[in-house]
Amino acid sequence: MAAASIRLFNTMTMQKETLEPAVPGKLGVYVCGPTVYSYVHIGNARTFTSFDVVVRYLRYRGFEVKYVRNYTDVDDKIIKAAHETGEEPVALAARFVEAFREDARALHLLEPDVSPKVSDHLAEIIGIIGKLVDKGLAYESKGDVYFSVRHYPEYAKLSKRNLDDLCAGERVQPGEQKHEPLDFALWKAAKPGEPAWDSPWGKGRPGWHIECSAMSAKYLGETFDIHGGGLDLIFPHHENEIAQSEGASGKTFSRYWMHCGFLDLEGAKMSKSLGNVVRLRDALTKVDPEALRFFFVGTHYRHPLNFADKGLADAEQRMEYFYETLRKVDERVSGKDFGKGPLYGEPHKHLTEFESQMDDDFNTAGALGALSGLFAQMNELTDKPPVKDKAQVGRTLQALREDVRKVSGVLGLFEDEPAQWLLRRRDRAVKERGIDVAKVESLIQARNEARKAKNFAEGDRLREELKGMGVEILDTAAGTVWKVAPQ
Ligand code: AMP
Ligand code: ZN
Repeated sequence: MAAASIRLFNTMTMQKETLEPAVPGKLGVYVCGPTVYSYVHIGNARTFTSFDVVVRYLRYRGFEVKYVRNYTDVDDKIIKAAHETGEEPVALAARFVEAFREDARALHLLEPDVSPKVSDHLAEIIGIIGKLVDKGLAYESKGDVYFSVRHYPEYAKLSKRNLDDLCAGERVQPGEQKHEPLDFALWKAAKPGEPAWDSPWGKGRPGWHIECSAMSAKYLGETFDIHGGGLDLIFPHHENEIAQSEGASGKTFSRYWMHCGFLDLEGAKMSKSLGNVVRLRDALTKVDPEALRFFFVGTHYRHPLNFADKGLADAEQRMEYFYETLRKVDERVSGKDFGKGPLYGEPHKHLTEFESQMDDDFNTAGALGALSGLFAQMNELTDKPPVKDKAQVGRTLQALREDVRKVSGVLGLFEDEPAQWLLRRRDRAVKERGIDVAKVESLIQARNEARKAKNFAEGDRLREELKGMGVEILDTAAGTVWKVAPQ
């Protein structure tokens, strides 16, 4: 497919702009990854899912994307957590990198092309700090190295903060070696019990922000296309990345900036420091991963999203409707040949609408509207076909099913076999509601026997009995299937 015209909201200019790659057809994307001192929560997962969909869509639209997402495995929080557990900080970080990988796979997140870690990039980090010192943009102070914000006039251009206002609220704290309050650490002198590496300024470790400047330059070049993260990273993290990278290279760092809104719990940003977190792995014991993705993409990535159990339950119910439709359509048309000929109506209009919503700053919420249209049309064609020509209906359903596959690759939804997905959903509901499966199955068998014997009154009575247990039955071409009724 030819590269299309995509507009995205650039936090730097605060406007929607047409995405034009520096190298035609190619895009470098860097997303700030997790700080691996604990399990990720579903707020983190929202941001990572948003960029997962962005990368999937850019590829769908024909761009060759190189996707880099780092691991912050050297950090104050990691050192503190390691002191608490008695582990080595590097070992604790490695453990949570593995946990993150498991969680990311469970949520069907694409594996980035490169997932660099700070601890593997000390040479690059030291190199860029050296450049900043040589250029007079950074200074050494008692084994620490700081970026000198006063020497970088463009500071705060992303967050549009006023330097005087910023200065007013800051003081150099006792024990800090910096000259001015806004200066930030590029390198921290070693302290006992902390991981440390050799450098021209003595043993120490990098500050937080410098890693992204060093690793993005290594894998994507000094200038690359899209930089992403959650809103909280705009200041100071991304501001500091810009100062370091543009200060060292003299070139534009990222050409477009994208930021994902917060996932809130009861009105407050979900964050480890507030303690109001739901771990992704805990959420995934209760809700299907695709339903969680569906919940995330139901809101535009820049808007806040309020987390509530009801929202997840609704998402899973909607996914059930989608999968039931797919099961029915597959039963009807999968592997069949309906010959060549015209299709009914304009079957691809939903996919075209989906694309135009996604082209508009990755408007997944709008795109889901197009998806609903696609499923409504599949249901209409299977349940009450508006035309008599069965081959035409079959061909049209096959064309719509193909469009679902395209959407599915972009959103990371409907990647499962419908019957399998529905069975898993049913198993979860059965456990939650304490339904006796053996009893359900024997009642269904009794009902089928009653119907065979033309005892329809008994058949209806058994259906009611099942209903009373919270079970709905459906007679399909492949036999009777059942599901747990919504509460
Ligand atoms: P951290 O591991 O804290 O550096 O966070 C990893 C990513 O998750 C960053 O891009 C954060 O901006 C993002 N993030 C953290 N909390 C939330 C939240 N409540 N909602 C959305 N994104 C978040
Ligand atoms: Zn970063």
